[in-house]
Amino acid sequence: MPIAAPRGTQDILPPESRRWQWLEECFRHHGALYGYREMRTPIFESTELFARGVGEETDIVAKQMYSFQSRGGDALTLRPEGTAGVVRAMIQHNLLAQGGVQKICYFGPMFRYERPQKGRYRQLHQVGVEAFGSPGPAIDAETLAFASDFLAAVGISDARLELNSVGCPACRPRYRDALRNALAGARTGLCTDCTRRYDTNPLRVLDCKVESCRTVTRDVPVILDMLCAECRDHLRGVEAGLRALGVPFVINPHIVRGLDYYTRTAFEFIAGGLGAQNTVLAGGRYDGLVAELGGPATPAIGFAAGIERLLMAAGEAAPAPPMAGPVFIATLGDAARAEGARLAQALRRAGVPAAISYEARSLKAQMKEAARQDARYALILGEDELARGDAMLRDMGAGEQTAVAVADIVTLLARRYAA
Ligand SMILES: [Zn+2]
Ligand SMILES: [Zn+2]
Repeated sequence: MPIAAPRGTQDILPPESRRWQWLEECFRHHGALYGYREMRTPIFESTELFARGVGEETDIVAKQMYSFQSRGGDALTLRPEGTAGVVRAMIQHNLLAQGGVQKICYFGPMFRYERPQKGRYRQLHQVGVEAFGSPGPAIDAETLAFASDFLAAVGISDARLELNSVGCPACRPRYRDALRNALAGARTGLCTDCTRRYDTNPLRVLDCKVESCRTVTRDVPVILDMLCAECRDHLRGVEAGLRALGVPFVINPHIVRGLDYYTRTAFEFIAGGLGAQNTVLAGGRYDGLVAELGGPATPAIGFAAGIERLLMAAGEAAPAPPMAGPVFIATLGDAARAEGARLAQALRRAGVPAAISYEARSLKAQMKEAARQDARYALILGEDELARGDAMLRDMGAGEQTAVAVADIVTLLARRYAA
């Protein structure tokens, strides 16, 4: 039996991999526009980092982690998300002591043990950003503008921004109590997960997708009515900032995020056409996390987006920019084949993609190969042509053929490919 990839993982094959490169390039480009610099952290970290940084009672930590013991006895976990590792690195390398605003972006694989379904994988890939050091609403609005522009650039221009505030340690406990009271009478109507959440993290009941839970939460008090003055001002500031930057949004008091460290701003971008898995990008402010992980108290905000889901939402709209097809050098005879290999190398060094036939084959077979490789030109090099210092250049699209001097080929094609 041949060995298959593990359940819940996928191979990104060409030409699909080109769309991935393109999306990552889009993300890098926008990161640079907004002043973000890339950080790469390990794919596995101490299990304790996620237990403390994500929260033990969250679904991610409670049910979805790939945890293992190293041969040396350390408790390690394949990272299920990117923020905890970035924050750990910021603290470990003392980067927050520099003060000011520090903007970090990252991308790479994350691992979650989930039931595989369309658009959901056990090895998923995310792009994400984290901005440290600014407590005010201006950076929230800018972060959301980044997200909105990035989504539009990858062809998801219809995503709806849903915004909420999850309060702060001063006002959230009061709301948590009010929510528990409101839910108390309807506890039997909650799903198993929400019955547990009622005790551990009742806010999470608000974003449960189970129909009976949605019915129960329809008329519960909303946190927006119970925010402290500072949280209310912050939310107003974010709203004003978004209007100023031309980023449309709606307020949705049921956006709570699954993670415990979020404060104030919480948001999701919702795209059409994805069914239940319709959140394409999500994030929020986490002013408490850096201190929670042992660093200096530092305000922060960020977002993450799954590449698989982004590409699904982008659909045909994601135009993999076509790489210009290569010059395929078809040769007849050993001397011509050697000259062809030399020419191909000279072309590549001049920035022109080039392909050759490695074995002696008929011209017909080589032209078929040129077509299979989407060659833009075929350069036909035979013994007679070579003796004259000539080659035949065929424009594969137009079907036209002209004789060119071998000595001029590199300059000529470099000019055409640069155009
Ligand atoms: Zn508050
Ligand atoms: Zn539920």
